[in-house]
Amino acid sequence: MAETICAVSTPHGRGGIGIVRVSGDLVQEMAQAILGQVPQPRLATFTKFADEHGESIDSGIALFFPNPQSFTGEDVLELQGHGNPILHEQLVERLCGLGARLAHPGEFTERAYLNDRMDLAQAEAVMDLINSSSRQASQAAMRSLQGGFSDRVLQLDKQVLELRVFMESAIDFVEEEIDFLSDGEQNERLSQVIHELGILIENCEHGKQLQFGYNLVIAGAPNVGKSSLFNALLNENRAIVTEIAGTTRDTLDATISLDGLPISLVDTAGMHDTADPVEVAGIARAESALALSDLTLWITDDRESQSRMPQDQEVLSVRNKCDLSGGEIGRRADGTVGISAKTGAGLPALRSAIQEYCGFHPRDDAFAGRPRHLKTLNSARQHLQTAEEALRNKQGELVAENLRLAHQSFGEVVGTTTTDDLLGEIFSKFCIGK
Ligand code: GDP
Repeated sequence: MAETICAVSTPHGRGGIGIVRVSGDLVQEMAQAILGQVPQPRLATFTKFADEHGESIDSGIALFFPNPQSFTGEDVLELQGHGNPILHEQLVERLCGLGARLAHPGEFTERAYLNDRMDLAQAEAVMDLINSSSRQASQAAMRSLQGGFSDRVLQLDKQVLELRVFMESAIDFVEEEIDFLSDGEQNERLSQVIHELGILIENCEHGKQLQFGYNLVIAGAPNVGKSSLFNALLNENRAIVTEIAGTTRDTLDATISLDGLPISLVDTAGMHDTADPVEVAGIARAESALALSDLTLWITDDRESQSRMPQDQEVLSVRNKCDLSGGEIGRRADGTVGISAKTGAGLPALRSAIQEYCGFHPRDDAFAGRPRHLKTLNSARQHLQTAEEALRNKQGELVAENLRLAHQSFGEVVGTTTTDDLLGEIFSKFCIGK
C-alpha cells in the first residue's frame, strides 16, 4: 500500500487560486472527512474544506480522480481554494492529521512513472515544461511530454530488436551463419537505424540548447562600450553608461532569448591595471565570470588596434563604435563583427554570429533533450556503429552483443531499464507538488 502524499501544487504566495493535491489510498477517506463527501469523479464540486471540528478552513472546488485514471494512477484529490499560504498550510496540516505525509519533490510525477502513466522521458519532460524559459523550449518539452521523443526512441528500439532476432537466429544456425551475415539487407537496415538515430540526437541536442542555453560574457577594456552593448542586446537601460572609465564595478547579468536560445548575459568591469580596490575586486569578478562563460564577446573600440584577447576560451571579437570609426558594419572577413552599440548598427549580424558560435540553428522539431538522454543515445549509436563494423567482418556474436547493448541504452532513455539511484537523481530536481 503506497503512502498517501499531499502538497501545495501552486507557487508559494498569494493569488487567485491555490491548489492542494493529495494522492494515495486514503484519498476517499480524507475527502469524506474534509468535504463530507467523495465528490463525483472528474466533476467540479463546490464545497467547504472543513477542519477537524467541522469549521471551514476555506471553500472552493474539489476534484476527485479515481485510480487508475489520474495523473499518478492512484486516487487523487485536488482542493482548489483561495490563494493564500495560511489556508494551504492549514489544509496540509489537516490532511497530515488524517494520515497523509508531505510529498517529496517530484513524487507525484515519480508515481505517475512507477504506475505506468508515462515513461521516464515523459516524466522528465514535465519538469522541462515547467522550467522552460522560451516558447521554443516549452514547445520542445511539450513534444516530449506528448510522447513524440519516446515514440522515436521506441521505434528505433523495435528496429534494433528485429535485427537482434535475426542475428541471434543466424548464430544458432552456425553453418548458414556466413550466408545470413552476407545478406546486404541487414547492413542496410542497420545503417538506416544509425542514420535515424543521428537525426534524433540532433533534435535532442537542439532541445538541450533550448533548455540550458549559453553563458555569454561581455568583456574588454574600460569605456569601449560594454555596458552600452549589454543594454542594446537587452533592449533596456539596465547598466549605467557614462564616459567615465570604471563605471561598471560589479558584474551585472540578465537573460535574453535569441530565437528561443536562452542566453545568460553578463556585463563585466573593464579590464585594466588599477590600484582602486573596488575596481580590483570588480576585475576579479569579471575574471571569474570569464572562466565560467561558454563564449566571451571581447569588445574593442574600432578606432583602436585590437587589444590582446583572453586565451583558452571561445572568444568572438566585437569592434564597437563603428559610427565613429566609419569601419565596416557586420561580419568581417577577419571573423570580427563591426557594430555600433549606440546606433544599433550590426546588432543583427552579432546576434547571428552568437547563434553560429553556439551551433544553434532554429528548428521546430526539437525534443526536450537532457544531457542524460544525449549520453545514452550517443552510447547506443556507438554500439550500433560497432555492430555495423562487426557485421562487415561477419562477426555474428559481436553484432548480436552490440545490438543488445544498444537496446539496453534505448531502455534507459524511456525508463524500462533504470536504477533507483537514477530515479532519485531525476525526481529530486523537481519542485514539490509536481
Ligand atoms: P564600458 O565602460 O565599456 O561599459 O562602456 P560604456 O558602455 O559605459 O560606454 C562608454 C562611452 O562610450 C559612453 O559615453 C557611451 O555612450 C559611448 N559609446 C558606447 N558605445 C558607443 C558607440 O557605438 N558609438 C558611440 N559613438 N559611442 C559609444
